[in-house]
Amino acid sequence: MMVRMTASSTNEVKATIITPRVERERRHSTAARMAVSRARTVPGLTRSRIGWGAVGAAMACYQTALEYAKARRQFEDKPIAAHQLVQDKLVWMITEISKAQLLALHVGRLKDQGRAHPAHVSMLKMNNVWMAQETARKARDILGANGIVDDYCIMRHMNNLESVSTYEGTHDIHRLVIGERITGISAFV
Ligand SMILES: Cc1cc2nc3c(=O)[nH]c(=O)nc-3n(C[C@H](O)[C@H](O)[C@H](O)COP(=O)(O)OP(=O)(O)OC[C@H]3O[C@@H](n4cnc5c(N)ncnc54)[C@H](O)[C@@H]3O)c2cc1C
Repeated sequence: MMVRMTASSTNEVKATIITPRVERERRHSTAARMAVSRARTVPGLTRSRIGWGAVGAAMACYQTALEYAKARRQFEDKPIAAHQLVQDKLVWMITEISKAQLLALHVGRLKDQGRAHPAHVSMLKMNNVWMAQETARKARDILGANGIVDDYCIMRHMNNLESVSTYEGTHDIHRLVIGERITGISAFV
């Protein structure tokens, strides 16, 4: 048996009698806390959040482009959404957004199970930021000149995504992370 003296931030001194049982339970709870904390630690937490955030930016651009395409009328007073080339862009966007959502969900589940590897997070960040940039560019096309003015959200997302694509690892660097993971060979230098 021993007595442990501890001081709180308010300088209040506390004496705890430590018996072998108390010590065992204390160690156990510390180990359990550490295990839970390890399981909750995602490699590149900010990076995986970017993977989710990019999907939000893409959804905003898609929604704006869809509404605009249905409302904007050109040749023979038809909505531009009635043209195959415009529909092709909208279909590309909604398909890639859906795939990106599934990737984010999958990596999130791996994280919850404590099985997320940095390469998973690299794939999430790399793919979803690229997808959001492409979606913003296609949305900007659909809006014509209105795509570059700040009456609509497209340019704001495009500008933001340009910086997001650089921080927390560029597209190229994440390819190298994934490449090393699958081949076992580092191609960084
Ligand atoms: C808005 C913004 C906010 C930021 N916030 C932070 C922050 O909070 N904290 C922080 O620490 N940093 C921050 N950064 C810095 C950011 O992490 C770096 O800019 C980024 O890592 C790229 O480094 P770099 O600019 O030196 O480019 P470089 O490393 O010079 O890369 C330039 C180009 O070369 C490519 N490249 C580099 N090495 C290789 C290689 N081995 N193989 C193939 N291609 C390669 C890159 O992919 C890129 O295309 C921020 C950047 C921006 C734009």
